[in-house]
Amino acid sequence: MPRFIVIGGGAIGLNAAYQLTRMQAGKVTLLEKGQVGDGSSSRAGGIITGLLWSETGVLARMISLRLYQELSADLERYGYCFQDVGCLNLFDPASWGEREELLPLYDRLGFGYEILDAAQMRRRWPDLTPEADLIGLHDAVGGYSEPHEFVPALARRCRDLGVEIRENARVDGLQIDNGRVVGVQTGLGVLEADVVVCTVHAWTAAFMEGCGVRLPIKSFVHQRYVSSKLPERASIPAINANPYGGYIRPARLGTTDFRILAGGETEDREEESVDGPSFHMAGLSAPRNLRSQLSENLTPLVPKLAATRWETEQVGLISFSLDSEPVLGHLPELPGLVVGAAFHSGGFAYSPVAGLLLAELAAGDSPSVDISSFSPGRFTKEETEDYLATTVVQAEAFRRRH
Ligand SMILES: Cc1cc2nc3c(=O)[nH]c(=O)nc-3n(C[C@H](O)[C@H](O)[C@H](O)COP(=O)(O)OP(=O)(O)OC[C@H]3O[C@@H](n4cnc5c(N)ncnc54)[C@H](O)[C@@H]3O)c2cc1C
Repeated sequence: MPRFIVIGGGAIGLNAAYQLTRMQAGKVTLLEKGQVGDGSSSRAGGIITGLLWSETGVLARMISLRLYQELSADLERYGYCFQDVGCLNLFDPASWGEREELLPLYDRLGFGYEILDAAQMRRRWPDLTPEADLIGLHDAVGGYSEPHEFVPALARRCRDLGVEIRENARVDGLQIDNGRVVGVQTGLGVLEADVVVCTVHAWTAAFMEGCGVRLPIKSFVHQRYVSSKLPERASIPAINANPYGGYIRPARLGTTDFRILAGGETEDREEESVDGPSFHMAGLSAPRNLRSQLSENLTPLVPKLAATRWETEQVGLISFSLDSEPVLGHLPELPGLVVGAAFHSGGFAYSPVAGLLLAELAAGDSPSVDISSFSPGRFTKEETEDYLATTVVQAEAFRRRH
């Protein structure tokens, strides 16, 4: 029976393990250096839209959205449900032109959308008051997943399906024989595998460097907040509110506990260096003034925010490749290894399809989407070295929201 090792217990690794098991591909062991959900996945906003900027991205997200519906049914008994409230992408007149050029792509791929003016948005969502000149691009099948529901539910389902999940099991390196990856090195010795799937997110560049491969990936601190309790559910969809410098969505802590979640970038902050496996996101912090800034920015859009305060903060990392598209596939230098990383601020949204694609590649099947534009081998050595030699602030990296 083929043996698969998945490194990393976040949304991407759990989905890869889940899909491998669903395919009955072989024995699956997932190794997590801390606890499942220790990385960005439990800190995410969980917003999902299919309206991306590349053909591969849109096709992949169409699969993700379908899989989220299937996961909703499969994980219901574990307390997870996809919140299909729709996702509204907001644009001001200056930024709309670039997005408008993508509408023929959405039409050709059959991905439905609606273009709404401010009056239409106000009518549809009574708690939303966008500025009169804003344009809304609405994705009716988008929405959000609550990370605190999704990650533990998927881990439990994986265990029930037969995945061996080992926590506190750090991978220190790859075991290589005759140029092929044949397992991983851990504190307890070598674990052999026919294929290793590496899903260590912000740790990817350092981990791969330890294996002699440099990847042009950088990580940035990112933060999101959950408000105090609202008297009733906010009538808003999930919103990528770029003109307001953030994103915002309804949040739920239980069936009758309604709140608002919002987050945004720290534009001037330099990339975060993740130099090895001992790095932990719990050590990250956000500037104190960000909370009031977010309230100030977003209250004109959602006036209900005025009666709340931010009760919880989550700080984690988002990762970007040199061209901002994900890095997903085989590494030409290391047969026997499949990598999935650099999902910008959309790794939660990508996770079901990323898990599927990683599982297909690991099992030797053709991927459901042509992912040549995600190939880890697409970067030249020179551009990789140039990129890694420069220090970048968040504002200079791409803005790819969910
Ligand atoms: C504040 C915030 C808000 C966000 N909002 C959204 C959103 O609304 N929508 C969206 O789609 N995305 C969002 N994201 C992005 C999303 O969270 C990430 O892209 C996604 O969670 C990445 O999943 P992952 O499984 O690759 O990484 P992680 O969840 O970070 O998992 C990687 C795991 O690998 C483990 N690991 C690392 N090294 C080793 C090793 N050597 N051995 C064993 N284990 C190891 C880590 O401990 C970690 O648990 C947000 C991110 C942040 C920080």
